[in-house]
Amino acid sequence: MIDNYRIRKIGDKYFLSTDDGSSIILNISELKQIKKETVPDNLKKKLLDKEIITKNISKKIDNLRKRNDFLFQGTSLHVIVLTKRCNMSCVYCHAGRENESKKELDMDLNTAKKTVDFIFQSPSNKITIEFQGGEPLLNWSVLKFIVEYAHELNDTIGKDLQIDLVTNMGLMDEEKMDYLIEKNVGVCTSLDGPKELHDKNRVHNKSNYEEVIYWIKKFNDEYIKRDIDSQINALVTITKNSLKYSKEIIDEYAKLGLNMVHLRFLNNLGFAKSAWEKISYTPEEFIGFWNKSIDYIQINKINMIERGYNIIQAKLKNKKDPNYLEMRSPCGAVIGQLAYDYNGLIYTCDEARMLNEDLFHIGNVNQEFAQVVTCDKACSIVNSSINDQFICDTCAYKPYCGVCPVCNYSEQGNIIGKITQTSRCKIYMSQFDRVVKETFIKHNS
Ligand code: SF4
Ligand code: SF4
Repeated sequence: MIDNYRIRKIGDKYFLSTDDGSSIILNISELKQIKKETVPDNLKKKLLDKEIITKNISKKIDNLRKRNDFLFQGTSLHVIVLTKRCNMSCVYCHAGRENESKKELDMDLNTAKKTVDFIFQSPSNKITIEFQGGEPLLNWSVLKFIVEYAHELNDTIGKDLQIDLVTNMGLMDEEKMDYLIEKNVGVCTSLDGPKELHDKNRVHNKSNYEEVIYWIKKFNDEYIKRDIDSQINALVTITKNSLKYSKEIIDEYAKLGLNMVHLRFLNNLGFAKSAWEKISYTPEEFIGFWNKSIDYIQINKINMIERGYNIIQAKLKNKKDPNYLEMRSPCGAVIGQLAYDYNGLIYTCDEARMLNEDLFHIGNVNQEFAQVVTCDKACSIVNSSINDQFICDTCAYKPYCGVCPVCNYSEQGNIIGKITQTSRCKIYMSQFDRVVKETFIKHNS
């Protein structure tokens, strides 16, 4: 018998997927045969090969378990806000940055210690601590304390520990670089594209572009010199200003030897209305930009991975989910990540703490881990991120997709959103269509 399935028409073909994420491309007559349940032997064989039907139910159960493997792992990503202060002012900043002089908005040593103790109560074997801000380098002494204390604690616990820093590079210097490399702290910065675009997005007393470029090159040279298999990561934020730079953003990343770029759309996370109007765009405008960027990479055979494209392709091709927290069901909130504010308050995810709403505040670092992640609010947020609502339940991309309670709340005032009115759904739908076409249909024709 055929498993529960959903259909999406793409050109003159049909993409059929089942609950466990198995999929097949069909033509119209094959689809009609399935609907009438008059499946000839050759089609039956195709459906068996693709695991759309199976003689063995435990195979389907195994597929479901594999695809949802993340449910059995525990919270692995822990975002620590070392300070609310920032040395810059970006047009798209939604982290609630505060003036550099407000030192009372830094995490203190006592809270830092309790935060690390709390994090290590997570049942996950993999622990990633990510420093965010404000600008984390403004609280350098506490950053160093956490790095050292986390390693010391882990020496007796033995988890797979990774520590990362997200920085605008404005306060980087040789001493800090040496420390970060020596302690194996991964470094990620922001690079929005060519100089005029990057600097336009920031209010700073000098060109931040020059600083970012200098330190990307410097770190990467040092990794090579010290025979370390690592590369600096960069994140691009796509604003309205970026839309005409599809080619230049790719060129900028390629020029620096970065072979990965993630062209993510902007979420309306509580921007002042005037800022949102200035920097936002329609889903159609974003999709036009994204398609142009992908075309440019493909036509010119540029050695560049667009991460969003890659994640979708991995979801469609593999049985195991790549575990991208923003696009899975339930999403990464609570069960994949937690965010710790400078004062020890805990939020369901980093974007949630940016909203600064009590709804997403689930506890503090003085409590027990199990008590925080199982509280009523935490369970409600996790529950609201399951894409079981009517619209998603009719969509062929449901097994690979996800909804975001934080975006829903920010855009529509409710953690359960009207999916068809979200930019997110329109954009994902269009991206899925392109990747399905290029991965399965072009291939077949
Ligand atoms: S969010 Fe949109 S694309 Fe994703 S499963 Fe729901 S309806 Fe489909
Ligand atoms: S709530 Fe939204 S932003 Fe937060 S982890 Fe889930 S999908 Fe991501």
